[in-house]
Amino acid sequence: LASVVIIGAGHAGFQVAASLRQEGYDGKITLIGDEPGLPYQRPPLSKAYLLGKITETSLLFRPAEFFETQRIELLHDQATAVDRLNRRVLLASGAVATYDHLVLATGAHNRPLPVPGAELEGVFGIKAKADADVLAPLVKEARNVVVVGAGFIGLEFAAVAAALGATVHVLELGDRPMARALSREMSELFRDAHEHWGVHFDFRQGLARVIGENGRVCAVETSDGRTLPADLVVFGIGVIPNVQLATEAGLQIENGIKVDASLLTVDPQISALGDAACFPCLYNDEQPTRLESVQNAVDQGRCIAARLMGKPAPYSALPWFWTDQGNLKLQIAGLSTGYDSTVVLGSVEAREVSVLCFRNQHLVAVESCNRMGDHMAARKILARPPKLTPQTAAAEGFDLKAWEA
Ligand code: FAD
Repeated sequence: LASVVIIGAGHAGFQVAASLRQEGYDGKITLIGDEPGLPYQRPPLSKAYLLGKITETSLLFRPAEFFETQRIELLHDQATAVDRLNRRVLLASGAVATYDHLVLATGAHNRPLPVPGAELEGVFGIKAKADADVLAPLVKEARNVVVVGAGFIGLEFAAVAAALGATVHVLELGDRPMARALSREMSELFRDAHEHWGVHFDFRQGLARVIGENGRVCAVETSDGRTLPADLVVFGIGVIPNVQLATEAGLQIENGIKVDASLLTVDPQISALGDAACFPCLYNDEQPTRLESVQNAVDQGRCIAARLMGKPAPYSALPWFWTDQGNLKLQIAGLSTGYDSTVVLGSVEAREVSVLCFRNQHLVAVESCNRMGDHMAARKILARPPKLTPQTAAAEGFDLKAWEA
């Protein structure tokens, strides 16, 4: 392979480039990103970065010299088309990048807020550093904040806004926080914690419209017709994978760019990964699965780099995830999809809890709040047989770390 072109310079794209060099790849690497500046990490954007706890520099994966010494050519440009026949990527600037192998790491964009008034000033989704840079000074001054969607990003932001002294109101269509990915027990723990921090929840409640004054948000109207004052509205209602380039190039799309077990698209010269890709997940009965996490982007990046360097292997990493809200660190190992029973370890009062999620008597996920040791043990247990059963876990004095050892 003389040349690898990577579209998207986020977590996944950066990792492919870095891992290729680590694996000894000596050819040309072109990393194309349409955001300004050096590639950076997104997770702090809705947490520590907004609180001013970490600087711009510490968001970066690596300093500028890294790209020079590793001979990774970073192009600030937008890929506008993939010409598969001639193995070329066309760029907005008019430039052309030719490849022997192409990696699509285009990520996802925020699902837009589908109500009147969404275009008003003071209404935000958080995706890029540019969003957080505009939001950071505003949240420090905001008095009434409305968060739409009680998912991870919405609640991370709610915790930040509450800590900075705002009155925070969360509207959520479902009946509990983070319901898509969390057990009922862990949802309840986080609901209690947020309420303790002063966050108000409105479950089974949608947003009807955003109300403005002189082009700026001043209130929102809920689905049941109430008006809530708001000088800032932040929404986190899911993301949509960026598949336009892949679609136009004739690749298969199914909730993302469809790839096989080794993360190849239907074109053997094109791989896809990260938030943009849908792969047969071993931890989800090999169902087509799209995951939005740093772990997924990074491990898939390593898997693709290894394959390109002659070490092919099906992608098989255990999914894991974390979120920081207030003084709580939630870490999830595995996927709890379809769990049918749980065992709770630890102390709910102290908010040091692990929820073990079982499906058909098999451990499928462990959610740990402020129990880092359990999370690390769970990652090892879930990555290999034998499976832990609910009977064993429910026994008096059961200790996850001891069982793992
Ligand atoms: P991205 O990192 O989104 O990168 C894709 C890049 O491709 C973007 O820069 C995009 O602009 C660029 N691009 C797209 N199309 C083109 C094109 N045509 N030409 C050029 N460039 C293009 N995950 C966790 O595990 N834990 C967390 O706590 C956590 N917190 C998060 C908080 C926030 C605010 C956000 C937004 C995400 C968070 N995530 C978290 C999710 C995690 O950041 C993503 O899963 C990860 O970034 C996915 O990596 P990616 O490379 O696939 O996509």
